[in-house]
Amino acid sequence: MALRKLVAGNWKMNGTRAALGEIAAIEAAAAGAAGIDVAICPPFTLIAAAGQQVSKVAIGGQDCHHAAKGAHTGCIAATMLADLGARYVIVGHSERRTDNGEDDAQVRAKAEAGIAAGLIAIVCVGETEGERDEGRAGSVVGAQLDGSVPPAATAAQLVVAYEPVWAIGTGRTPSLDDVAEMHALIRAKLLAILGQEGAGVRILYGGSVKPDNAAALMAIADVDGALVGGASLTAAQFAPIIEAAAGA
Ligand code: PEP
Repeated sequence: MALRKLVAGNWKMNGTRAALGEIAAIEAAAAGAAGIDVAICPPFTLIAAAGQQVSKVAIGGQDCHHAAKGAHTGCIAATMLADLGARYVIVGHSERRTDNGEDDAQVRAKAEAGIAAGLIAIVCVGETEGERDEGRAGSVVGAQLDGSVPPAATAAQLVVAYEPVWAIGTGRTPSLDDVAEMHALIRAKLLAILGQEGAGVRILYGGSVKPDNAAALMAIADVDGALVGGASLTAAQFAPIIEAAAGA
């Protein structure tokens, strides 16, 4: 089943108000891309202002706390993201799993909080280079999905991003065959966890998606879009990726 593609940009800890012009330029590029969804997840500090630059492009957060409110200094609740107009929240990015020691149970709790706040949770999974070299990519990602995917989620509430850790920010990508194999495995696992809802969950590929490889990646079965880091920071780089998704 061909699902509506989603191209989501993760700005990470990049961008001040001076970058809002890029959001406006990305909106202009996305406005011409029919039949797909486009999102940008800027730093928390830009969510409100970015929302004023867009109508076609949705805005998302890069993380949220699992609790709705409380004594958690420096944290952001999913309800706060929704209050600013965000539509998505990324949870379980490998940089959060590594830098902040987040485990699958925490990632699932965050995804559930995002969904409860009315957001679409983008749950990230992916193996390290060592795990792939040991032939464990499939079992590692399968276990991450078992632990991180909210079992009651509907297809409309959930997106999964497959991001091999070794491909993030490195300019390296798996072979197209390896991407196809992992996305097929993820689809089967989502069906096992969610039943028929798993057929409608979009599975994004992430890790060094660039204008010159986007079309080939998005032509693969069960690649329902892309999660893009570095190349989402400028409209010049992101617009051709949006166009590749619209043409896929
Ligand atoms: C990411 O961190 O989600 C990502 C995919 O980064 P990059 O596109 O820069 O590899």
